[in-house]
Amino acid sequence: MTSEDLIKLFSDISYLPKMTDKKRVVYQKLVGDKILDFLYHLPTSVIERKLLLNNNSFKNGDLVTLIVNVDKHIAPPRFVKGRKIPFVVKCSNENMSISVVYFHNYHDTIRKNFPIGSKRVISGNLDRYGSDFKMTHPDYIKTIDEVSTVSGTEPVYPLSSGISKDNLIYFIKAALSFIPDFKEWLDIDFIKKNNFLTWKESILKLHNPSCESDIDFNSVFRRRLAYDELLAYQLSLKLTRLYVNNANGCPIVGDSSLINKFVSSLPFKLTDSQREAFLEINTIQKSNKSMMHLLHGDVGSGKTVVSLMCILNAIEANKQAAFMAPTDMLAKQHFTLAEKMFLPLGLKVVFLSGSVKGRKKRQEVLESISSGEAHVIIGTHALFQDDVEFKDLGLAVIDEQHRFGVNQRMKFTEKGFRVDTLLMSATPIPRTLSLALYGDIDVYKITEKPLGRKDVDTYIMSVEKTEEVTQGLKKILEKEQKIYWVCPLIEESEKMDLMAVEDRYKFLKSVLGDVVALVHGKMSIRDREKVMQEFYEGSKKLLVATTVIEVGIDVKEATVMIIEHAERFGLSQLHQLRGRVGRNDIPSTCILLYKNLGVNTRKRLEIMRKTNDGFLLAEEDLRIRGSGELIGTKQSGVLSFRIANLFFHSDLLYKASIEAGNIVLKDPRLNTKQGKALRNLLKLFDYSSHIKYISSG
Ligand code: ADP
Ligand code: MG
Repeated sequence: MTSEDLIKLFSDISYLPKMTDKKRVVYQKLVGDKILDFLYHLPTSVIERKLLLNNNSFKNGDLVTLIVNVDKHIAPPRFVKGRKIPFVVKCSNENMSISVVYFHNYHDTIRKNFPIGSKRVISGNLDRYGSDFKMTHPDYIKTIDEVSTVSGTEPVYPLSSGISKDNLIYFIKAALSFIPDFKEWLDIDFIKKNNFLTWKESILKLHNPSCESDIDFNSVFRRRLAYDELLAYQLSLKLTRLYVNNANGCPIVGDSSLINKFVSSLPFKLTDSQREAFLEINTIQKSNKSMMHLLHGDVGSGKTVVSLMCILNAIEANKQAAFMAPTDMLAKQHFTLAEKMFLPLGLKVVFLSGSVKGRKKRQEVLESISSGEAHVIIGTHALFQDDVEFKDLGLAVIDEQHRFGVNQRMKFTEKGFRVDTLLMSATPIPRTLSLALYGDIDVYKITEKPLGRKDVDTYIMSVEKTEEVTQGLKKILEKEQKIYWVCPLIEESEKMDLMAVEDRYKFLKSVLGDVVALVHGKMSIRDREKVMQEFYEGSKKLLVATTVIEVGIDVKEATVMIIEHAERFGLSQLHQLRGRVGRNDIPSTCILLYKNLGVNTRKRLEIMRKTNDGFLLAEEDLRIRGSGELIGTKQSGVLSFRIANLFFHSDLLYKASIEAGNIVLKDPRLNTKQGKALRNLLKLFDYSSHIKYISSG
């Protein structure tokens, strides 16, 4: 393998033939910006197109491929009011007569695709109507010599609008052709024991599955890649530990002047737990060890204030501090809060995210960061883009850290190189797992809730009660309290869900009037911000939302949380959502509306009713359905690896952790033959920056 081969994989996707600028935008969002990213865009299922030679085994609706003769075109009359009349292509073969039906108006294309008298291969869902068969909008129309390309098994990929599956598959094939033969980085015995193939062979197989079980989480192909990913992750952790964290940090010692002013300006008293958490973190800041600390505390336990105090300590010591949040909305909220609290202290707080548009404006922000004029920088992951340079970063706070990809987190700490890092999370993770995940990171727990906080009363109701619930909301609105109404948005059925959200919004607006607002992830950031602002300020009082509001949003007057299709959410997500209310001493309510309730889902929702304690919820959840939903699934967004899923692959995580420890012990500079191969592994999972440590020491 030459380095040129590798460079191809890491090139921008615009280098792929036929990648237009317009397509690039869509693909970058769906897949990523490197050619390599296409390799990790894995199928989610496998379908089989049967080549139907006779109709003995045929069932209505089957996905089949047929060889047919094109007999006749039946075009609809030009102008027919009201009813839509399809264009029909009459076809036949020895066994049957088939109507191919089109409801669109591209008649010329249809005529071109089906020349009368020709033989065509068509593939799609087939239905029988008496002695006639019908195929509406076939997936494929091919010529006879292409029959093998549309029969047999076929991977199904996640798509997004503007991308056809043929086009996606074309680019994936192109990307696959760039994979060089890598020197094996895993131990040969380990490979044999697990029946693994090579990295390359596994990727190829996952994109060319012969059956559904080839691509599921337990397939050896998937496990091989998951192990690779987890090993790369563990290796990067251990290398960071060895070369960055263990190295001498710089003691950050403030004089408490800003902190004292800040604390006395708070409208409440710190809880003992908050005070202790701060003291502990502060002790490490002041020491000459560099810090990697996880501040763990249930939703609403008041982690933000603690982190702001740590930030002030850094500023007292003439350093800058950065605060990163996973969504624009949340970052904005933190920014507004920090600005309000810090302005009186004479500090400059700036905001940086992808939504900061305009070259000049962005340039201004960047300059204030690099000149040191900005004391606190708050934003999204835009904070670790290459053009962001800090003058002297002393602390990085990462809120809702589990929402970030594991290597996004790392990139941030590299900005200031030996910078203290404070991670914050409310997601309860079983202790053994958190050890393997974070290595020997220090964890501090906030156990106490702010004074006067009441539990949120939780009710479980059928969605049929929607009308009653809505009537009940009138009273809440009269009391000037605010309401969230959450509808799920699942990627696979996004369009339908979105329609459901909009319908719900229209319905609520018709009953409750103009105070109802709608916010969802498909809106532009600006529109979303506007709506959120109106909700904060109070001109809107009921917010219909998809789960964009899940993390961290803090609106004190909100007292009612209604969650539709609650059965579709995981417990930890429900808990996060419920945590948006009850942020005050006014009694709050959470209503879980369900549509379909199985035994397990009922049990889950019952637990929500019984307890408000996030850690208890996590344990109960584990008992009922394994750790799947807490950790690793995309929907809960927790600890998102690209390939690995901690529910299925936790055994691999432990193995990878041990193996990475051995490697770093024996070959800390990755100089042996295997070490050099492992450098490629790090690159393939986006940890290439860690190779820098090895070379620079
Ligand atoms: P989380 O830990 O979930 O991030 P936040 O930091 O957003 O929680 O705090 C939740 C709410 O509780 C905020 O509105 C905050 O101002 C308030 N809060 C924080 N600490 C206290 C306290 N000691 N007493 C009363 N309210 C507090
Ligand atoms: Mg928070």
